[in-house]
Amino acid sequence: MKNLSILGATGSIGDSTLKVLDNLKGHFKIMYMSANNNYKKLADLAKKYDPEYVIIDKVFYKDLKELLGSTKIKVLTNEDGLIQATSDPRVQVVVNAIVGSFGLRPTITAAEHGKVIALANKESLVMAGENVNKLMKKTGAKILPIDSEHSAILQSLNGEEFSTIHRIILTASGGPFRDRKDSLENVTIADALAHPNWSMGDKISIDSATMMNKGFELIEAVHLFDLKPKQIDIIIHPESAIHSMVEYIDGSVIAQLGLPNMMLPIQYALTYPERKKMDLPRLNFHKLGTMNFYEPDRKLFPAIDVAIAAINEGGTVPVVLNTVNEIMVYKFLQGKIKFTEIVENVEKEISKHKKIINPTIDQIFEVNDEIWKRLH
Ligand code: NAD
Ligand code: MG
Repeated sequence: MKNLSILGATGSIGDSTLKVLDNLKGHFKIMYMSANNNYKKLADLAKKYDPEYVIIDKVFYKDLKELLGSTKIKVLTNEDGLIQATSDPRVQVVVNAIVGSFGLRPTITAAEHGKVIALANKESLVMAGENVNKLMKKTGAKILPIDSEHSAILQSLNGEEFSTIHRIILTASGGPFRDRKDSLENVTIADALAHPNWSMGDKISIDSATMMNKGFELIEAVHLFDLKPKQIDIIIHPESAIHSMVEYIDGSVIAQLGLPNMMLPIQYALTYPERKKMDLPRLNFHKLGTMNFYEPDRKLFPAIDVAIAAINEGGTVPVVLNTVNEIMVYKFLQGKIKFTEIVENVEKEISKHKKIINPTIDQIFEVNDEIWKRLH
């Protein structure tokens, strides 16, 4: 039995993680569960899963405490709670399913304390991949990716050395606008949220619609598998049956396939290197019929090239990429800016940024905090 913390337990990945833990009954004890503001859902989940601690934004501390009145479950606020959940020596595995830049501190603390990190929060690696890797080397911490593409790469690698990789073929569903030819300037919030193949939180749904998500995933793959950005090709595969592929130095290509359901990569991250039984609907090749592949339209989806330029620039440029994008996605979701202004503003801010080479973790947080203060 391993002890586990779930950060972002009330979100979409949180929901799927809890279903996986139901499937893995007896293998994990949930010690900490966190949420940002949905204290009612967190209280219900806590009553069901009986963690030692729950963690919530301080505004909802009293409300949550009241709802848990007669239980033994202790309530912490985000400020100290997320640090405790990722540094408690009894905790072996941390699931980081927090969305956005607020997921970085927990990833860093978990890496400092040698945890196994089942990572959904790709933003941590976009912002600080090199720093996180250095920390993990020192402490023996390990990241197991929850992102389906990176899980597919890990599964396709099946224990082979990273040095045998010639290139990665990162598949993308293409999001709700993949068949558009005309400008995306006037698309609505509802259009942008309507992902064809996956049901996810709002922020990643918008990132999928701009395809910034695929740019982030390219950066995530660079850090996870020690690759050069140019070793990664992005290809649209609308059926989302192949979740990504590894082309080896001898020309062989190995892919991982399955129905699009996050429970599979989550369970693999939690049981790695083992596989455990799971009764989900299976991929049916007769139903699937054909698989299609085509190049993304880089003019309609400039985010891909903006992200590649940011990782090639390095230093604190990917921090600007991440955090300006995050703020602009929320502005779009509030109806304050147009869809196309998300990436336009990211580009504008990157062009003004004075990059710091080899930033420390503190410098990364300084750049992030300055952007939040100025643009939010
Ligand atoms: P979501 O919006 O459904 O859930 C986000 C969770 O984070 C919630 O529990 C929320 O309470 C918590 N949270 C939000 N802001 C916070 C803050 N400031 N401090 C502490 N906690 C906060 O998002 P999601 O779709 O579950 O995505 C979570 C992460 O997983 C993202 O980084 C996303 O890119 C990644 N991811 C998601 C999917 C998916 O299928 N949903 C797939 C791959 C990767
Ligand atoms: Mg993904």
